[in-house]
Amino acid sequence: MAEKTLSTISWQDFQTLSLPDKGPYFQAPPHHTLIAQQFSREDIEALCELATRVKRINKRREGANYLKTLLSDKRAMLYFAQPSSRTYLSHNAACQILGLDTMDVRDSKTSSEVKGESPEDTVRTFSSYVDMIIMRHPVGGFAERVAWMMAQTPRPIPILNAGSGADQHPTQALLDVYTLLRSFEKIGGIDGKSVVFVGDLARGRTVRSLAWLLSLFNGVKLYFVAPEQLQIGQDILELLDAAGTHYELTQDFESTMPEADAIYMTRIQDEWDSEGATTTDSSDFHIGAEHMDILKPTCAILHPLPRRQEVSTDIDNDSRAMYWRQMRNGMWIRAALILRTFHREEEVHRYYDAYTPPG
Ligand code: ASP
Repeated sequence: MAEKTLSTISWQDFQTLSLPDKGPYFQAPPHHTLIAQQFSREDIEALCELATRVKRINKRREGANYLKTLLSDKRAMLYFAQPSSRTYLSHNAACQILGLDTMDVRDSKTSSEVKGESPEDTVRTFSSYVDMIIMRHPVGGFAERVAWMMAQTPRPIPILNAGSGADQHPTQALLDVYTLLRSFEKIGGIDGKSVVFVGDLARGRTVRSLAWLLSLFNGVKLYFVAPEQLQIGQDILELLDAAGTHYELTQDFESTMPEADAIYMTRIQDEWDSEGATTTDSSDFHIGAEHMDILKPTCAILHPLPRRQEVSTDIDNDSRAMYWRQMRNGMWIRAALILRTFHREEEVHRYYDAYTPPG
């Protein structure tokens, strides 16, 4: 069968494809990372293994110096047209670990977009100077559009989606799965686990991407806990139905707590509210010290951050609070992803097997 490439499909035809059907177009060179649906379970497990190896290699000075040589001939553009702390910094740190030089535009007002340049031309301009674009954009699907547009140029480069609108955040979902895999290392991995998502699930792009990745594991049960108007989208539920993943929708957070192997808290994404919109009462969608006795001793509490009041600071030192570790895991999984984008993973495995002591 012919390889599915973005250079041979029209934008109109491409847009009619389902998310899982879009996946193969992004896997083909130049290897974009755009949507959660492009990853298989094998991909995820291989990336997580690579992330752990990079982390271990980086512990020793010789290892860190070796990693820095791997992509020292490459440059990356960090184009963040929406606010970001962790995603920006961890991608930048991942680039530094691998020796990539980075440039950034963190505010479209500082680019020629204010002179009327189209977002497409803006990104094409960036692509002239670098070998990869890591981008966050308020318009859902814009990263896909950029990838398609790249395919029509003589020098297409990989696009890495660091958050698009309210629809996708694939690298966050990968780091979340990495955190879950590590948290469940001694209790049989992710298969058969119950994961409770809480908060703004309608506009929380991390949840939308992560729910799909979890559907790739066997016997997982998902609970979606949200005020009615912020419940998870029907499009995601349809994907879960097709994958045969069990799920339940509820507003009763406490009743799900004893079942939870992991709880994934999110904040209300009110940046998407129209002006004058009434704020949603989310006080019931909160976790704090008063709940710790109901939870399993192994329950992992995650949050993509930033948090507001939905997770009390008084549980920060509980051994089940994983959100700080989750944040650091982002740097390792992004380093693994960038290595894979440029096909340098086999080399890292060889180095690891030859030089890294176990542990
Ligand atoms: N940092 C995550 C995101 O960019 C979650 C959030 O902002 O609430 O989607």
